[in-house]
Amino acid sequence: MMRIFQGISASTGIAIGKAYVISKREQHTIPKVKITEDERLPGWNRFEKSIETVINYYKNLVDTENSEQEAVIETYLLMLTDTDFLNQIKKEYNSSEFNVEHIVQKKIDETTSQLRAVGDEYLSERAQDIEEVFEKVLFNMLGYSSVGVESVIPDSIVVAENIMPSEAMLLFRKRIKALVLQEGGVSSHISILARTYGIPSVFGVENPTSSIETGNTIVVDATKSLVIVEPDKSIRTDYQIKQENAEKRIKELAQFISQKAQTKDNVPITIYANIGTIEDAQLAKDEGADGIGLFRTEFMFMEAAEKNTLLDEEEQFKAYKSVLQIMGDKSVTIRTLDAGGDKIINLKGMPGIEEKNPLLGCRAIRFCLQEREIFKTQLKALYRAGIYGNLKILLPMITSPEQIDQTKKIISKVKEELLKEGKSFKDDIPLGVMIETPAAAIISDYLADRCDFFSIGSNDLTQYINAVDRENPDVAHLYDELHPAVLRMIKHSVLSASQSDIPISVCGEMAGREESLKCLVGMGVRVISVSPKLISPIKQILSNFSVKEMHEAAELRLLDKVKK
Ligand code: PEP
Ligand code: MG
Repeated sequence: MMRIFQGISASTGIAIGKAYVISKREQHTIPKVKITEDERLPGWNRFEKSIETVINYYKNLVDTENSEQEAVIETYLLMLTDTDFLNQIKKEYNSSEFNVEHIVQKKIDETTSQLRAVGDEYLSERAQDIEEVFEKVLFNMLGYSSVGVESVIPDSIVVAENIMPSEAMLLFRKRIKALVLQEGGVSSHISILARTYGIPSVFGVENPTSSIETGNTIVVDATKSLVIVEPDKSIRTDYQIKQENAEKRIKELAQFISQKAQTKDNVPITIYANIGTIEDAQLAKDEGADGIGLFRTEFMFMEAAEKNTLLDEEEQFKAYKSVLQIMGDKSVTIRTLDAGGDKIINLKGMPGIEEKNPLLGCRAIRFCLQEREIFKTQLKALYRAGIYGNLKILLPMITSPEQIDQTKKIISKVKEELLKEGKSFKDDIPLGVMIETPAAAIISDYLADRCDFFSIGSNDLTQYINAVDRENPDVAHLYDELHPAVLRMIKHSVLSASQSDIPISVCGEMAGREESLKCLVGMGVRVISVSPKLISPIKQILSNFSVKEMHEAAELRLLDKVKK
């Protein structure tokens, strides 16, 4: 029966596909116990039965309109029915004194490490497939319900209560069709990532994992914030037409990729891209970005932390150098680590893991000034990479001039050390600060004298001015980037920058939304930075309005004269 859920739109677009439900995470261990002779056969029967259940599970998931997904499932089914492999397991089990679950796990570990040892990408992927399908078999035998993001099948619509940003990246790279979550706000980092990858996403859906089942057909209309489960035929056809129209619009917008952005009255606007990985830089270039306005380096750290490591200088140097080389002589602004808040570096001993109010805690510059060695390592990598392009360094979450002074002292030390180590580096890299706290906006006049540029982080600025957690869907209606208080702070910061003659840009999400974009340009902003996929739509919007029209729109908002 058709059911409709309402949430909030985290990344617009329409998707139709099969649901893949990720239920609550549990800790799973595979037990190792000695068995009696009487238990041997029932153990094997249990294993065979579980294989059958998993085969049916995958068969149920097949989306016949999606050949790629069908091919993936086909591979899984071949593995589950590979008699050679199953006989090997049986042989080992029959000659051992331990339970079947343990033997299966042992055999999987041996086989996958042999495949990985070859060092061939194809075989490593097969190893991952084996782990994926047999983990499901084992979990099923042991009555564990949970499945992790690793097992998600490409092209499905993922439904979960909550996932971590690093898991979201994994899913988006797998090219899932859409994401439905119970948690998360419009400016949460997962929604930012969803927009980067152009994945339609609806958050704030009540209990989605208990109301939607894996294999259900769903329509995600993220533009209207709707999730429709088991749509009837007419609705499904309607959405197929809408999807075709959306694809046509993407083709229409392609003409803007090679054009420079300008307003209706020909005022040029610079559009940079926000990125989180090296691959995103290529995406930004392909989408026609004038440069990178914000490289959120914390996502790389979070991914490394998943493998229990902290990025070292060399790894970071290579990553920054790659982004600079991809962008050639175009401007690239790399932000120092904005760890904390929802972007936790999940390693033992890191600050910010168990804070009561992480968004007000040891985040970003506070984290870096406390964890000096991590900060110094990043700065070293940045100064070394600076040789390879047009780099600018950006400091997040600044609330006081002293934080800039302290950073400059650390930079001097870093340069001294690089000299001693005989490593070449760029000496004069512009240093900018994010205006993303009320304190920074209010004192932007004297911060402007201490740095080379400003970048307005409207996501945090809106959150802190409105006192609304950007991650929390329950208060999402109060998260208002067009609130006159937010606009006045931005206007004041634009004025401070112009009085000190330093550049200012906006890299928060509001630069990518029509109404807010008009206000920003109307208040004098001429440089913005947005998700790569938004560059062309923004060029089109800008071409429809003159600066005068946008100024009038901003004035009405600043004076709170817009009817709500
Ligand atoms: C912002 O706060 O607007 C911003 C761009 O930084 P982040 O979203 O990474 O906090
Ligand atoms: Mg921020």
